[in-house]
Amino acid sequence: MDVLIVEDDDAMAGALTAAVESAGHRPRRLSRGADALLSHRNFQVILLDLGLPDMDGLEVLRKLRQVTDVPILILTARDDERSVVLGLRSGADDYLVKPVKLVELLARIEAVTRRAGRSRGTPQEVIVLGDVEIDLAKRTASRAGEPVPLTATEFELLALLASHAGSVVTREQILDALWGDAFLASSRSLDVHLTGLRAKLGKPGFIINVRGVGYRVEAAAG
Ligand code: CA
Repeated sequence: MDVLIVEDDDAMAGALTAAVESAGHRPRRLSRGADALLSHRNFQVILLDLGLPDMDGLEVLRKLRQVTDVPILILTARDDERSVVLGLRSGADDYLVKPVKLVELLARIEAVTRRAGRSRGTPQEVIVLGDVEIDLAKRTASRAGEPVPLTATEFELLALLASHAGSVVTREQILDALWGDAFLASSRSLDVHLTGLRAKLGKPGFIINVRGVGYRVEAAAG
């Protein structure tokens, strides 16, 4: 897999490059956000630092998301809740706080790319729940005929819940399906993506909390 590492710190970039190489991937390191915007097309996953010399990583992320759904993991020293939430809302698939455990990083890279690969192989199917339509092949959702602009992760979450409409999907099932693991940070990510998905659908009560268990959408949701 071709992995783009956007990191201005030489020591950090060196460690990341070595870790990615050790897992059999082909890393390429860039220091500037502007360069990342120019060369993202050649990669299957992007590791993105937020503190970059020429522009903020969140800005890079937003610009990338306008043109690509390649999996993007943020790696940053910013560990405050606001930055994490902003990163995920801006379209990051995952968020790792430095210092990053390299084994965990590799597991997360595998999880986000597996998810992206699986979604490409999804059979042609459209799920209709009331005025909400979810096209699994095109990976698009609409409500009352209007497109709902979802991030890759929000779409996966909606597709998972919708394909089990009428039954409860537990948090563990969601974490396992979307992240392939149950890291604590993934659990927090789930809450953020869920909040984003609900806000974009603008349909209160569509995704029901089943306290202490998980979530459910009604089969006959209207
Ligand atoms: Ca930096």
